[in-house]
Amino acid sequence: MSKAASSSASSSSFEQLGLDLRLLKAVRKIGLEAPTPIQAECVPLALAGKDVLARAPTGSGKTYAYALPLLQKVLSRHDGGGGASSSIEPGVGAVVLVPTRELCQQVHGVMRKLLGHGGAAGVRVVTLATPTDAASLSADAPPDVIIATPSRLRQVCTGSGHAGLLLKLRDSVHTLVVDEADLLLSYGYGDDIAAIGGALPPAVQTLLLSATITPDLDSVRSLFLHNPVTVDIEEDGADQGGGLRQYWLRTSHADKFLVMYALFKLNRIPGRSLIFVNSVDRGFRLKLFLEQFGVSSGVLNCELPLASRWHAIEHFNRGLFDILIATDDPKLMAGRATERLEAGGGGGG
Ligand code: ADP
Ligand code: MG
Repeated sequence: MSKAASSSASSSSFEQLGLDLRLLKAVRKIGLEAPTPIQAECVPLALAGKDVLARAPTGSGKTYAYALPLLQKVLSRHDGGGGASSSIEPGVGAVVLVPTRELCQQVHGVMRKLLGHGGAAGVRVVTLATPTDAASLSADAPPDVIIATPSRLRQVCTGSGHAGLLLKLRDSVHTLVVDEADLLLSYGYGDDIAAIGGALPPAVQTLLLSATITPDLDSVRSLFLHNPVTVDIEEDGADQGGGLRQYWLRTSHADKFLVMYALFKLNRIPGRSLIFVNSVDRGFRLKLFLEQFGVSSGVLNCELPLASRWHAIEHFNRGLFDILIATDDPKLMAGRATERLEAGGGGGG
C-alpha cells in the first residue's frame, strides 16, 4: 500500500485535476471555486485508475472526490473511449454503496447536477431508494450508475425479475465506490457488501471513503482494495467543505429544554445545528417547544416517509431552517435489523 505524497495534493484548481471539459463546465456552473484537499488528492489518483482508500472528515467534500472521476469514466465509455466500441460491455458501469436512502438521494442529486450542467444528461444514474426505483430497472436497458444501500442492491439483484442483473454486474462494472464505509459497517451491512463484492468483476476499480479508518474496515479493505493508495486528510482540511464543531454541556434532565431555549433564542450557536435526541417523541416535543419561542426547526426520524425525510434534509441544506432535530429510534433500528435478517436484506436509512 502506498501513501499519496502530500506535495501532490497542492492542485489548487479544478482545471489542474485532469477532468473532462463537460465536468469542468458543470463544476463551474455549480459554483465550486477550488477543490477541497480530498478532491485535489483523490480525483487524479482515481483518474489514473488507482484503488483509493480515503480518510477525510465529514463535510470535507468526499462526494465530488469520487463522483467526478467515476462520471468521467462513464462518460468516456459513452463516447466509445478506451478502444473499439465493440469491446465495450453494455451494462451497469459503476456501483456506489452508501449507508442510507437519504444519502442515495443526495449522491444522486450531485451526479445529476454534474451531468446536467455538463450537457451529458444521456447518462443514466439511478438510485435504489424506493420500490419504484427498483421497478424502473431492467437488465435489458441497464443504467450507467447505480446508487444503493448494500442490502437494497443485494435484494434487487437476487429478487425475482432482476435475476439477470446480478450476473450482468460481473460483465460490465468498472468502478465500485464504498462511501461512508465506517457507517456502512456499523449499520451491519458487512454481509451484503461481501455478497455484492462476489458479484463484481475481480478487476473492478474501488474507491473506499470514510470519516474514520478502523480495524472493522479490514475485511472490506482486503476484499476490494488491490494495492490501494491511501489518502489521509486531517480534521483541519475540513474547513473548505464546511467544517463541523461539537459542543458539550452537562445539565440535568429537567433543564435540557431550558438550555436549548437559551442557546438558540440568544443565538449562542452560529450557523446551522444538527440536534440528536434519543426518541422520536422527544424530537417532536423539542420542535414544538422551540416553535413557541419563534425558533423554527425541522425533524428527521425513521417514522417519517422517505419523501418527508428527504424534504427535511433539502430544506436544512438550503437554509430554510437552521436547526434539524434528528432521531435514530432504537426500537425501529432493532426491528429493521430483524427484518433484514429475515428478508436476507432490507431497506437502509
Ligand atoms: P463528506 O461526504 O466528506 O461529508 P460532502 O461531499 O457531503 O462531504 O460535501 C459537504 C459539503 O461541501 C456539500 O454541501 C458540498 O456541496 C460542499 N462542497 C464539496 N466540495 C466543495 C468545493 N470544492 N467547494 C465548495 N463546496 C464544496
Ligand atoms: Mg459523504
